[in-house]
Amino acid sequence: MKEKNLSVLRHSTAHLLAHAVKELFPETLLTIGPATKDGFFYDFLPVTNFKDEDLSRLEERMHEIAKRNLPLTHKQENKDIAQRLYANNPFKLELINDIPGDTVGIAQQGDFYDLCRGGHVDSTADIKYFKLLHISGSYWRADKNNTALQRITGTAFFSQKDLDEFIQQREDALKYDHRKLGKELDLFSFHEEGVGFPFFHPKGKIILNVLTHHLRSHMIRAGYQEISTPMMLSDELWRRSGHYQHYKDNMYFSIIDEKSYAIKPMNCPGAILIYKERPRSYRELPLRLAEFGLVHRHELSGVLNGLFRVRSFTIDDAHIFCTEDQMAQEVENFIALNDAVIKSFGFTNIVIGVSTRPAKAMGSDELWDKATQALENSLKKLGKSYTIYPGEGAFYGPKIEFGIEDSLKRVWQCGTMQIDFFQSENFDLSYISSEGTKVKPVVLHRAIYGSFERFFGILVEHYKGKFPFWLAPVQVKILTITDEQKDYAQEIMQQLVEHNIRVEMDETSDQISGKIKRAQLDKVPWMLVIGKKEEENGTVTIRYLDGKQEFGVKMEEVLSKAFSSLRSS
Ligand SMILES: [Zn+2]
Ligand SMILES: [Zn+2]
Repeated sequence: MKEKNLSVLRHSTAHLLAHAVKELFPETLLTIGPATKDGFFYDFLPVTNFKDEDLSRLEERMHEIAKRNLPLTHKQENKDIAQRLYANNPFKLELINDIPGDTVGIAQQGDFYDLCRGGHVDSTADIKYFKLLHISGSYWRADKNNTALQRITGTAFFSQKDLDEFIQQREDALKYDHRKLGKELDLFSFHEEGVGFPFFHPKGKIILNVLTHHLRSHMIRAGYQEISTPMMLSDELWRRSGHYQHYKDNMYFSIIDEKSYAIKPMNCPGAILIYKERPRSYRELPLRLAEFGLVHRHELSGVLNGLFRVRSFTIDDAHIFCTEDQMAQEVENFIALNDAVIKSFGFTNIVIGVSTRPAKAMGSDELWDKATQALENSLKKLGKSYTIYPGEGAFYGPKIEFGIEDSLKRVWQCGTMQIDFFQSENFDLSYISSEGTKVKPVVLHRAIYGSFERFFGILVEHYKGKFPFWLAPVQVKILTITDEQKDYAQEIMQQLVEHNIRVEMDETSDQISGKIKRAQLDKVPWMLVIGKKEEENGTVTIRYLDGKQEFGVKMEEVLSKAFSSLRSS
Protein backbone atom coordinates (compact mmCIF):
# COMPACT_ATOMS: atom_id res chain seq x y z
CA MET A 1 0.00 0.00 0.00
CA LYS A 2 2.78 2.41 0.96
CA GLU A 3 4.50 1.82 -2.35
CA LYS A 4 1.33 2.56 -4.25
CA ASN A 5 0.91 5.83 -2.38
CA LEU A 6 4.49 6.69 -3.11
CA SER A 7 3.90 6.31 -6.82
CA VAL A 8 0.81 8.55 -6.58
CA LEU A 9 2.93 11.16 -4.79
CA ARG A 10 5.71 10.89 -7.34
CA HIS A 11 3.40 11.06 -10.32
CA SER A 12 1.84 14.19 -8.75
CA THR A 13 5.34 15.62 -8.32
CA ALA A 14 5.97 15.06 -12.04
CA HIS A 15 2.91 17.26 -12.72
CA LEU A 16 4.32 19.82 -10.31
CA LEU A 17 7.60 19.83 -12.23
CA ALA A 18 5.79 20.26 -15.56
CA HIS A 19 3.78 23.10 -14.01
CA ALA A 20 7.00 24.84 -12.91
CA VAL A 21 8.54 24.29 -16.35
CA LYS A 22 5.49 25.87 -18.00
CA GLU A 23 5.73 28.92 -15.72
CA LEU A 24 9.47 29.43 -16.19
CA PHE A 25 9.86 28.20 -19.77
CA PRO A 26 6.38 28.63 -21.29
CA GLU A 27 7.39 27.55 -24.81
CA THR A 28 8.46 24.08 -23.66
CA LEU A 29 6.44 21.15 -25.03
CA LEU A 30 5.38 18.55 -22.48
CA THR A 31 5.41 14.84 -23.34
CA ILE A 32 5.12 12.19 -20.61
CA GLY A 33 5.92 12.14 -16.88
CA PRO A 34 5.47 8.80 -15.10
CA ALA A 35 6.42 7.63 -11.61
CA THR A 36 9.28 5.10 -11.55
CA LYS A 37 10.69 2.67 -8.99
CA ASP A 38 12.95 5.37 -7.49
CA GLY A 39 11.03 8.52 -8.26
CA PHE A 40 9.70 10.05 -11.47
CA PHE A 41 10.79 11.72 -14.67
CA TYR A 42 9.29 14.09 -17.19
CA ASP A 43 10.38 14.28 -20.83
CA PHE A 44 10.33 17.76 -22.39
CA LEU A 45 11.09 19.41 -25.68
CA PRO A 46 12.47 22.80 -24.58
CA VAL A 47 13.25 25.68 -26.94
CA THR A 48 16.79 25.84 -25.60
CA ASN A 49 18.20 22.88 -23.69
CA PHE A 50 17.87 22.88 -19.90
CA LYS A 51 21.13 23.28 -17.99
CA ASP A 52 22.03 21.88 -14.57
CA GLU A 53 21.61 25.35 -13.06
CA ASP A 54 17.95 25.29 -14.11
CA LEU A 55 17.22 22.44 -11.70
CA SER A 56 17.47 24.58 -8.56
CA ARG A 57 15.33 27.30 -10.15
CA LEU A 58 12.71 24.72 -11.08
CA GLU A 59 12.82 23.19 -7.63
CA GLU A 60 12.31 26.58 -6.06
CA ARG A 61 9.31 27.25 -8.29
CA MET A 62 7.89 23.82 -7.49
CA HIS A 63 8.01 24.63 -3.76
CA GLU A 64 6.31 27.92 -4.47
CA ILE A 65 3.49 26.27 -6.45
CA ALA A 66 3.16 23.60 -3.77
CA LYS A 67 2.60 26.33 -1.17
CA ARG A 68 -0.24 27.78 -3.24
CA ASN A 69 -2.18 24.74 -2.00
CA LEU A 70 -3.88 24.12 -5.36
CA PRO A 71 -6.35 21.23 -5.34
CA LEU A 72 -5.58 18.53 -7.93
CA THR A 73 -8.65 17.63 -9.90
CA HIS A 74 -9.14 15.08 -12.64
CA LYS A 75 -11.95 14.68 -15.15
CA GLN A 76 -12.78 12.92 -18.41
CA GLU A 77 -12.86 15.36 -21.32
CA ASN A 78 -14.10 14.86 -24.87
CA LYS A 79 -11.24 14.11 -27.24
CA ASP A 80 -11.97 17.12 -29.46
CA ILE A 81 -11.67 19.46 -26.47
CA ALA A 82 -8.38 17.83 -25.49
CA GLN A 83 -7.14 18.10 -29.05
CA ARG A 84 -7.86 21.82 -29.01
CA LEU A 85 -6.00 22.21 -25.70
CA TYR A 86 -2.95 20.56 -27.25
CA ALA A 87 -3.27 21.99 -30.78
CA ASN A 88 0.40 23.02 -30.67
CA ASN A 89 1.79 19.87 -29.08
CA PRO A 90 2.22 16.96 -31.54
CA PHE A 91 3.32 14.60 -28.74
CA LYS A 92 0.17 15.03 -26.67
CA LEU A 93 -1.94 14.82 -29.84
CA GLU A 94 -0.34 11.49 -30.65
CA LEU A 95 -1.07 10.26 -27.12
CA ILE A 96 -4.69 11.44 -27.34
CA ASN A 97 -5.15 9.61 -30.65
CA ASP A 98 -3.73 6.41 -29.17
CA ILE A 99 -6.16 6.38 -26.24
CA PRO A 100 -9.21 4.22 -27.09
CA GLY A 101 -12.70 5.71 -26.65
CA ASP A 102 -14.10 9.22 -27.04
CA THR A 103 -12.71 10.80 -23.90
CA VAL A 104 -9.34 11.28 -22.22
CA GLY A 105 -8.36 12.17 -18.65
CA ILE A 106 -7.20 15.71 -17.88
CA ALA A 107 -5.60 16.60 -14.57
CA GLN A 108 -5.73 20.18 -13.40
CA GLN A 109 -4.11 22.28 -10.66
CA GLY A 110 -4.67 26.04 -10.83
CA ASP A 111 -4.30 27.08 -14.45
CA PHE A 112 -2.04 24.12 -15.27
CA TYR A 113 -3.47 21.02 -16.89
CA ASP A 114 -1.96 17.77 -18.13
CA LEU A 115 -3.13 14.72 -20.04
CA CYS A 116 -3.35 11.95 -17.46
CA ARG A 117 -5.09 8.78 -16.35
CA GLY A 118 -5.44 10.03 -12.78
CA GLY A 119 -4.26 9.01 -9.31
CA HIS A 120 -3.03 12.09 -7.45
CA VAL A 121 -2.54 13.61 -4.03
CA ASP A 122 -5.34 16.01 -3.01
CA SER A 123 -3.43 19.25 -3.19
CA THR A 124 -0.06 20.57 -4.36
CA ALA A 125 0.59 21.34 -0.67
CA ASP A 126 0.80 17.58 -0.03
CA ILE A 127 4.04 17.55 -2.05
CA LYS A 128 6.76 18.66 0.34
CA TYR A 129 9.82 16.44 0.21
CA PHE A 130 11.23 16.15 -3.28
CA LYS A 131 14.40 16.73 -5.25
CA LEU A 132 15.30 17.07 -8.91
CA LEU A 133 18.27 14.80 -9.56
CA HIS A 134 19.55 15.19 -13.08
CA ILE A 135 18.97 16.04 -16.72
CA SER A 136 19.58 13.47 -19.43
CA GLY A 137 18.78 12.85 -23.06
CA SER A 138 15.87 10.71 -24.19
CA TYR A 139 13.80 10.10 -27.31
CA TRP A 140 10.09 10.33 -27.94
CA ARG A 141 8.71 6.84 -27.28
CA ALA A 142 12.28 5.70 -26.47
CA ASP A 143 13.05 5.36 -30.19
CA LYS A 144 16.25 6.98 -31.36
CA ASN A 145 14.72 7.64 -34.80
CA ASN A 146 12.24 10.00 -33.11
CA THR A 147 12.64 13.52 -31.76
CA ALA A 148 15.38 13.94 -29.15
CA LEU A 149 13.96 15.14 -25.83
CA GLN A 150 15.34 16.17 -22.45
CA ARG A 151 14.47 14.16 -19.40
CA ILE A 152 14.44 15.66 -15.92
CA THR A 153 14.57 12.97 -13.25
CA GLY A 154 13.57 13.54 -9.65
CA THR A 155 12.21 11.82 -6.61
CA ALA A 156 9.72 12.49 -3.83
CA PHE A 157 9.00 11.02 -0.40
CA PHE A 158 6.57 11.44 2.47
CA SER A 159 9.23 12.65 4.90
CA GLN A 160 12.46 14.60 4.90
CA LYS A 161 14.11 11.63 6.60
CA ASP A 162 13.23 9.27 3.73
CA LEU A 163 14.40 11.83 1.20
CA ASP A 164 17.70 12.41 3.02
CA GLU A 165 18.28 8.67 3.25
CA PHE A 166 17.66 8.27 -0.47
CA ILE A 167 20.06 11.08 -1.34
CA GLN A 168 22.72 9.62 0.95
CA GLN A 169 22.34 6.18 -0.68
CA ARG A 170 22.59 7.77 -4.09
CA GLU A 171 25.78 9.61 -3.15
CA ASP A 172 27.20 6.40 -1.71
CA ALA A 173 26.34 4.53 -4.90
CA LEU A 174 28.32 7.08 -6.91
CA LYS A 175 31.18 7.06 -4.41
CA TYR A 176 31.37 3.26 -4.33
CA ASP A 177 30.64 2.66 -8.01
CA HIS A 178 32.35 -0.63 -8.86
CA ARG A 179 33.82 0.81 -12.06
CA LYS A 180 35.58 3.52 -10.07
CA LEU A 181 36.70 1.18 -7.25
CA GLY A 182 37.67 -1.52 -9.75
CA LYS A 183 40.15 0.88 -11.29
CA GLU A 184 41.46 2.21 -7.98
CA LEU A 185 41.97 -1.31 -6.62
CA ASP A 186 43.34 -2.65 -9.93
CA LEU A 187 40.71 -5.41 -10.21
CA PHE A 188 39.43 -5.30 -13.80
CA SER A 189 39.19 -3.18 -16.93
CA PHE A 190 37.37 -2.83 -20.23
CA HIS A 191 38.97 -2.27 -23.61
CA GLU A 192 37.89 -1.01 -27.02
CA GLU A 193 39.23 -4.23 -28.50
CA GLY A 194 36.42 -6.21 -26.92
CA VAL A 195 33.52 -3.92 -26.06
CA GLY A 196 31.50 -5.38 -23.21
CA PHE A 197 33.98 -8.18 -22.45
CA PRO A 198 35.58 -7.72 -19.03
CA PHE A 199 39.32 -8.20 -18.43
CA PHE A 200 40.17 -9.37 -14.91
CA HIS A 201 43.55 -8.30 -13.51
CA PRO A 202 45.53 -10.53 -11.10
CA LYS A 203 43.76 -9.18 -8.01
CA GLY A 204 40.33 -9.44 -9.61
CA LYS A 205 41.05 -12.97 -10.73
CA ILE A 206 41.99 -13.97 -7.18
CA ILE A 207 38.56 -12.80 -6.01
CA LEU A 208 36.86 -14.71 -8.84
CA ASN A 209 38.82 -17.83 -7.90
CA VAL A 210 37.83 -17.50 -4.24
CA LEU A 211 34.19 -17.03 -5.28
CA THR A 212 34.39 -20.19 -7.40
CA HIS A 213 36.11 -22.21 -4.70
CA HIS A 214 33.61 -21.02 -2.08
CA LEU A 215 30.61 -22.02 -4.16
CA ARG A 216 32.19 -25.27 -5.29
CA SER A 217 32.73 -26.44 -1.72
CA HIS A 218 29.12 -25.59 -0.81
CA MET A 219 27.87 -27.44 -3.90
CA ILE A 220 29.96 -30.56 -3.40
CA ARG A 221 28.48 -30.85 0.10
CA ALA A 222 25.03 -30.46 -1.46
CA GLY A 223 25.59 -33.39 -3.81
CA TYR A 224 26.40 -31.63 -7.08
CA GLN A 225 28.83 -32.96 -9.69
CA GLU A 226 30.73 -30.56 -11.88
CA ILE A 227 30.84 -30.77 -15.67
CA SER A 228 32.30 -28.70 -18.47
CA THR A 229 30.72 -28.36 -21.91
CA PRO A 230 31.94 -26.72 -25.14
CA MET A 231 31.84 -22.99 -25.80
CA MET A 232 30.56 -23.53 -29.35
CA LEU A 233 27.91 -25.96 -30.50
CA SER A 234 26.15 -26.49 -33.79
CA ASP A 235 23.24 -24.36 -34.91
CA GLU A 236 21.02 -27.42 -35.11
CA LEU A 237 21.33 -27.90 -31.36
CA TRP A 238 20.38 -24.27 -30.68
CA ARG A 239 17.43 -24.60 -33.01
CA ARG A 240 16.27 -27.70 -31.19
CA SER A 241 16.68 -26.11 -27.75
CA GLY A 242 14.67 -23.09 -28.89
CA HIS A 243 17.45 -20.63 -28.10
CA TYR A 244 17.96 -19.87 -31.78
CA GLN A 245 14.36 -18.76 -32.18
CA HIS A 246 14.32 -16.70 -28.97
CA TYR A 247 17.87 -15.37 -28.72
CA LYS A 248 19.19 -15.32 -32.30
CA ASP A 249 19.72 -11.54 -32.23
CA ASN A 250 21.82 -11.85 -29.07
CA MET A 251 23.97 -14.77 -30.22
CA TYR A 252 27.41 -14.87 -31.84
CA PHE A 253 27.87 -17.21 -34.79
CA SER A 254 30.80 -18.69 -36.64
CA ILE A 255 31.23 -21.03 -39.60
CA ILE A 256 33.66 -23.94 -39.29
CA ASP A 257 34.12 -26.55 -42.06
CA GLU A 258 31.09 -25.05 -43.79
CA LYS A 259 28.99 -25.82 -40.74
CA SER A 260 27.36 -23.06 -38.69
CA TYR A 261 28.09 -22.92 -34.97
CA ALA A 262 26.90 -20.60 -32.23
CA ILE A 263 28.81 -19.51 -29.15
CA LYS A 264 26.68 -20.61 -26.25
CA PRO A 265 24.35 -18.01 -24.76
CA MET A 266 23.27 -20.54 -22.10
CA ASN A 267 24.60 -23.76 -20.68
CA CYS A 268 21.46 -25.91 -20.66
CA PRO A 269 21.91 -27.86 -23.93
CA GLY A 270 25.42 -28.97 -22.93
CA ALA A 271 24.15 -30.48 -19.68
CA ILE A 272 21.23 -32.08 -21.50
CA LEU A 273 23.55 -33.80 -24.00
CA ILE A 274 25.53 -35.28 -21.12
CA TYR A 275 22.33 -36.56 -19.51
CA LYS A 276 21.20 -38.08 -22.80
CA GLU A 277 24.51 -39.72 -23.52
CA ARG A 278 23.40 -43.05 -22.04
CA PRO A 279 20.23 -44.54 -20.55
CA ARG A 280 19.57 -43.33 -17.00
CA SER A 281 18.09 -45.25 -14.12
CA TYR A 282 15.86 -43.83 -11.37
CA ARG A 283 18.68 -44.79 -9.03
CA GLU A 284 20.84 -42.00 -10.48
CA LEU A 285 18.25 -39.31 -9.74
CA PRO A 286 18.34 -36.60 -8.62
CA LEU A 287 21.33 -35.95 -10.88
CA ARG A 288 22.73 -32.50 -10.18
CA LEU A 289 25.10 -31.35 -12.91
CA ALA A 290 26.87 -28.07 -12.18
CA GLU A 291 28.84 -25.98 -14.63
CA PHE A 292 30.66 -22.70 -14.21
CA GLY A 293 29.84 -21.94 -17.81
CA LEU A 294 31.11 -18.92 -19.73
CA VAL A 295 28.36 -17.61 -22.01
CA HIS A 296 28.32 -14.82 -24.60
CA ARG A 297 25.31 -12.66 -25.32
CA HIS A 298 25.32 -9.74 -27.66
CA GLU A 299 23.79 -6.81 -25.79
CA LEU A 300 23.26 -3.38 -27.36
CA SER A 301 26.20 -1.11 -26.56
CA GLY A 302 23.84 1.43 -24.96
CA VAL A 303 22.82 -0.95 -22.17
CA LEU A 304 26.34 -2.07 -21.20
CA ASN A 305 27.06 -0.99 -17.63
CA GLY A 306 30.40 -1.96 -16.07
CA LEU A 307 30.20 -5.51 -14.73
CA PHE A 308 26.45 -5.20 -14.22
CA ARG A 309 25.72 -5.66 -17.90
CA VAL A 310 28.41 -7.34 -20.01
CA ARG A 311 28.55 -9.40 -23.19
CA SER A 312 30.42 -12.37 -21.75
CA PHE A 313 29.94 -13.80 -18.30
CA THR A 314 30.16 -16.98 -16.29
CA ILE A 315 26.97 -18.42 -14.84
CA ASP A 316 27.15 -20.61 -11.74
CA ASP A 317 24.74 -22.86 -13.51
CA ALA A 318 23.38 -26.25 -12.56
CA HIS A 319 20.74 -28.49 -14.01
CA ILE A 320 18.99 -30.94 -11.75
CA PHE A 321 17.32 -33.94 -13.38
CA CYS A 322 14.82 -35.52 -10.99
CA THR A 323 11.53 -37.33 -10.74
CA GLU A 324 8.30 -35.40 -10.18
CA ASP A 325 8.22 -36.70 -6.62
CA GLN A 326 11.73 -35.45 -5.91
CA MET A 327 10.98 -31.95 -7.17
CA ALA A 328 9.75 -30.49 -3.86
CA GLN A 329 12.77 -31.75 -1.91
CA GLU A 330 15.14 -30.39 -4.56
CA VAL A 331 13.50 -26.98 -4.37
CA GLU A 332 13.82 -27.01 -0.61
CA ASN A 333 17.47 -28.05 -0.77
CA PHE A 334 18.22 -25.27 -3.19
CA ILE A 335 16.57 -22.56 -1.08
CA ALA A 336 18.70 -23.67 1.87
CA LEU A 337 21.86 -23.76 -0.25
CA ASN A 338 21.15 -20.31 -1.70
CA ASP A 339 20.60 -18.98 1.83
CA ALA A 340 23.85 -20.41 3.17
CA VAL A 341 25.94 -19.08 0.27
CA ILE A 342 24.37 -15.62 0.12
CA LYS A 343 24.48 -15.08 3.89
CA SER A 344 28.22 -15.84 3.93
CA PHE A 345 28.72 -12.48 2.19
CA GLY A 346 26.91 -10.63 4.96
CA PHE A 347 23.67 -10.14 3.01
CA THR A 348 20.87 -10.58 5.51
CA ASN A 349 17.74 -9.67 3.59
CA ILE A 350 16.76 -12.00 0.76
CA VAL A 351 13.65 -10.95 -1.16
CA ILE A 352 11.79 -13.85 -2.74
CA GLY A 353 9.30 -13.87 -5.62
CA VAL A 354 7.40 -16.77 -7.20
CA SER A 355 6.33 -16.40 -10.83
CA THR A 356 3.35 -18.52 -11.88
CA ARG A 357 1.73 -19.84 -15.04
CA PRO A 358 1.45 -17.32 -17.91
CA ALA A 359 -1.51 -17.28 -20.32
CA LYS A 360 0.46 -19.16 -22.97
CA ALA A 361 2.10 -22.14 -21.36
CA MET A 362 3.00 -25.73 -22.07
CA GLY A 363 2.36 -28.71 -19.81
CA SER A 364 -0.86 -29.78 -18.11
CA ASP A 365 -2.57 -27.74 -15.41
CA GLU A 366 -1.92 -30.62 -13.07
CA LEU A 367 1.83 -30.46 -13.65
CA TRP A 368 1.87 -26.67 -13.24
CA ASP A 369 -0.07 -26.91 -10.00
CA LYS A 370 2.29 -29.56 -8.69
CA ALA A 371 5.36 -27.51 -9.65
CA THR A 372 4.03 -24.22 -8.30
CA GLN A 373 2.98 -25.94 -5.09
CA ALA A 374 6.43 -27.49 -4.78
CA LEU A 375 7.93 -24.00 -4.92
CA GLU A 376 5.45 -22.48 -2.49
CA ASN A 377 5.38 -25.37 -0.02
CA SER A 378 9.16 -25.40 0.21
CA LEU A 379 9.20 -21.66 0.93
CA LYS A 380 6.48 -22.07 3.57
CA LYS A 381 8.20 -25.03 5.16
CA LEU A 382 11.38 -22.98 5.52
CA GLY A 383 9.40 -20.05 6.95
CA LYS A 384 10.20 -17.72 4.06
CA SER A 385 7.93 -14.87 3.06
CA TYR A 386 7.52 -14.27 -0.65
CA THR A 387 5.52 -12.39 -3.24
CA ILE A 388 3.56 -14.09 -6.00
CA TYR A 389 3.94 -12.68 -9.49
CA PRO A 390 0.90 -14.11 -11.27
CA GLY A 391 1.50 -15.05 -14.89
CA GLU A 392 5.17 -14.02 -14.80
CA GLY A 393 6.59 -17.53 -15.19
CA ALA A 394 8.22 -18.72 -18.41
CA PHE A 395 6.04 -20.69 -20.85
CA TYR A 396 7.90 -23.85 -19.83
CA GLY A 397 7.51 -23.62 -16.05
CA PRO A 398 7.25 -21.56 -12.84
CA LYS A 399 10.25 -20.06 -11.06
CA ILE A 400 11.53 -18.58 -7.81
CA GLU A 401 13.72 -15.50 -7.93
CA PHE A 402 15.94 -14.41 -5.07
CA GLY A 403 16.78 -10.72 -4.63
CA ILE A 404 19.55 -9.70 -2.25
CA GLU A 405 19.59 -6.38 -0.45
CA ASP A 406 23.06 -4.83 -0.29
CA SER A 407 24.58 -2.46 2.27
CA LEU A 408 23.29 0.49 0.22
CA LYS A 409 19.74 -0.93 0.52
CA ARG A 410 19.46 -1.83 -3.15
CA VAL A 411 17.94 -5.15 -4.16
CA TRP A 412 19.69 -7.20 -6.83
CA GLN A 413 18.04 -10.20 -8.39
CA CYS A 414 20.69 -12.94 -8.40
CA GLY A 415 19.58 -16.46 -7.58
CA THR A 416 16.87 -18.30 -9.44
CA MET A 417 15.32 -21.72 -9.61
CA GLN A 418 13.26 -22.55 -12.62
CA ILE A 419 11.19 -25.66 -13.20
CA ASP A 420 11.23 -26.76 -16.86
CA PHE A 421 8.70 -29.13 -18.44
CA PHE A 422 9.77 -28.27 -21.98
CA GLN A 423 13.35 -29.47 -22.46
CA SER A 424 12.61 -32.94 -21.14
CA GLU A 425 9.94 -33.28 -23.82
CA ASN A 426 11.91 -31.43 -26.46
CA PHE A 427 15.07 -33.50 -26.10
CA ASP A 428 13.12 -36.67 -25.37
CA LEU A 429 14.81 -37.20 -22.01
CA SER A 430 13.93 -40.23 -19.96
CA TYR A 431 14.91 -42.51 -17.13
CA ILE A 432 13.96 -46.08 -16.36
CA SER A 433 11.67 -46.17 -13.33
CA SER A 434 11.72 -48.82 -10.59
CA GLU A 435 8.92 -50.58 -12.51
CA GLY A 436 11.12 -50.72 -15.59
CA THR A 437 9.13 -48.12 -17.57
CA LYS A 438 10.49 -45.08 -19.40
CA VAL A 439 9.57 -41.84 -17.61
CA LYS A 440 10.37 -38.17 -18.32
CA PRO A 441 12.49 -36.44 -15.69
CA VAL A 442 11.80 -32.88 -14.54
CA VAL A 443 14.61 -30.44 -15.34
CA LEU A 444 15.44 -27.69 -12.83
CA HIS A 445 17.68 -24.78 -13.87
CA ARG A 446 19.25 -22.93 -10.98
CA ALA A 447 21.92 -20.35 -10.15
CA ILE A 448 22.98 -18.59 -6.96
CA TYR A 449 25.36 -15.77 -7.98
CA GLY A 450 23.68 -15.64 -11.39
CA SER A 451 26.60 -14.10 -13.25
CA PHE A 452 30.00 -14.16 -11.51
CA GLU A 453 30.89 -10.86 -13.15
CA ARG A 454 27.74 -9.08 -12.03
CA PHE A 455 27.95 -10.62 -8.54
CA PHE A 456 31.58 -9.41 -8.36
CA GLY A 457 30.39 -5.86 -9.19
CA ILE A 458 27.65 -6.12 -6.55
CA LEU A 459 30.21 -7.26 -3.94
CA VAL A 460 32.62 -4.40 -4.75
CA GLU A 461 29.84 -1.90 -4.04
CA HIS A 462 28.32 -3.84 -1.12
CA TYR A 463 31.71 -3.92 0.65
CA LYS A 464 32.60 -0.42 -0.59
CA GLY A 465 35.85 -1.93 -1.86
CA LYS A 466 36.78 -3.30 1.61
CA PHE A 467 36.66 -7.03 0.98
CA PRO A 468 36.57 -9.18 4.11
CA PHE A 469 39.72 -11.14 4.97
CA TRP A 470 38.60 -14.34 3.25
CA LEU A 471 37.90 -12.59 -0.08
CA ALA A 472 40.59 -9.90 -0.11
CA PRO A 473 43.11 -10.31 -2.97
CA VAL A 474 45.89 -9.28 -0.58
CA GLN A 475 44.99 -10.37 2.94
CA VAL A 476 48.09 -9.22 4.79
CA LYS A 477 50.60 -6.47 4.09
CA ILE A 478 53.90 -6.49 5.97
CA LEU A 479 55.30 -3.07 6.85
CA THR A 480 58.68 -2.58 8.51
CA ILE A 481 59.46 0.57 10.45
CA THR A 482 63.07 0.63 9.15
CA ASP A 483 65.01 -1.42 6.60
CA GLU A 484 66.81 -3.18 9.48
CA GLN A 485 63.73 -5.35 10.14
CA LYS A 486 63.51 -6.60 6.55
CA ASP A 487 65.17 -9.98 7.21
CA TYR A 488 62.84 -10.73 10.10
CA ALA A 489 59.91 -9.52 7.98
CA GLN A 490 60.99 -11.92 5.25
CA GLU A 491 60.76 -14.84 7.70
CA ILE A 492 57.26 -13.77 8.76
CA MET A 493 56.23 -13.48 5.15
CA GLN A 494 57.54 -16.98 4.41
CA GLN A 495 55.48 -18.48 7.22
CA LEU A 496 52.31 -16.84 5.91
CA VAL A 497 52.99 -17.94 2.32
CA GLU A 498 53.47 -21.53 3.54
CA HIS A 499 50.01 -21.35 5.09
CA ASN A 500 48.43 -20.05 1.86
CA ILE A 501 47.79 -16.60 3.22
CA ARG A 502 47.88 -13.98 0.45
CA VAL A 503 50.62 -11.66 1.65
CA GLU A 504 52.74 -8.83 0.26
CA MET A 505 55.55 -6.80 1.74
CA ASP A 506 56.01 -3.07 1.23
CA GLU A 507 59.56 -3.09 -0.14
CA THR A 508 60.04 0.68 -0.11
CA SER A 509 62.15 2.54 2.45
CA ASP A 510 59.38 5.08 3.04
CA GLN A 511 58.31 6.18 6.49
CA ILE A 512 55.89 3.84 8.25
CA SER A 513 53.07 6.42 8.02
CA GLY A 514 53.42 6.43 4.23
CA LYS A 515 53.38 2.63 4.11
CA ILE A 516 50.24 2.47 6.25
CA LYS A 517 48.54 5.06 4.06
CA ARG A 518 49.27 3.02 0.94
CA ALA A 519 47.99 -0.23 2.44
CA GLN A 520 44.85 1.61 3.56
CA LEU A 521 44.26 2.92 0.03
CA ASP A 522 44.63 -0.65 -1.25
CA LYS A 523 42.09 -1.65 1.44
CA VAL A 524 44.24 -4.52 2.74
CA PRO A 525 42.39 -5.96 5.77
CA TRP A 526 45.46 -6.69 7.94
CA MET A 527 48.78 -4.87 8.19
CA LEU A 528 51.58 -6.47 10.15
CA VAL A 529 53.79 -3.68 11.47
CA ILE A 530 57.30 -4.71 12.47
CA GLY A 531 59.76 -2.50 14.37
CA LYS A 532 62.83 -3.08 16.49
CA LYS A 533 60.79 -4.14 19.52
CA GLU A 534 58.73 -6.67 17.56
CA GLU A 535 61.90 -8.20 16.10
CA GLU A 536 63.53 -8.51 19.56
CA ASN A 537 60.41 -10.17 21.02
CA GLY A 538 59.64 -12.30 17.98
CA THR A 539 56.18 -10.70 17.61
CA VAL A 540 54.26 -8.38 15.27
CA THR A 541 51.71 -5.58 15.66
CA ILE A 542 48.46 -6.21 13.79
CA ARG A 543 46.87 -3.08 12.44
CA TYR A 544 43.37 -3.59 10.99
CA LEU A 545 41.90 -1.51 8.20
CA ASP A 546 39.63 0.31 10.67
CA GLY A 547 42.71 1.49 12.60
CA LYS A 548 42.39 -0.91 15.58
CA GLN A 549 45.72 -2.40 16.67
CA GLU A 550 46.94 -5.42 18.63
CA PHE A 551 50.46 -5.29 19.96
CA GLY A 552 52.98 -8.05 20.72
CA VAL A 553 51.20 -10.82 18.81
CA LYS A 554 53.10 -14.10 18.32
CA MET A 555 53.05 -15.71 14.86
CA GLU A 556 51.07 -18.77 16.08
CA GLU A 557 48.38 -16.35 17.15
CA VAL A 558 48.45 -14.46 13.85
CA LEU A 559 47.96 -17.75 12.02
CA SER A 560 45.17 -18.96 14.25
CA LYS A 561 43.36 -15.61 13.88
CA ALA A 562 43.74 -15.88 10.11
CA PHE A 563 42.38 -19.42 10.05
CA SER A 564 39.40 -18.53 12.17
CA SER A 565 38.59 -15.62 9.81
CA LEU A 566 38.72 -18.04 6.90
CA ARG A 567 36.60 -20.66 8.66
CA SER A 568 33.84 -18.22 9.51
CA SER A 569 33.12 -17.58 5.81
ZN1 LIG B 1 -1.63 12.73 -13.36
ZN1 LIG C 1 19.51 -23.98 -17.93
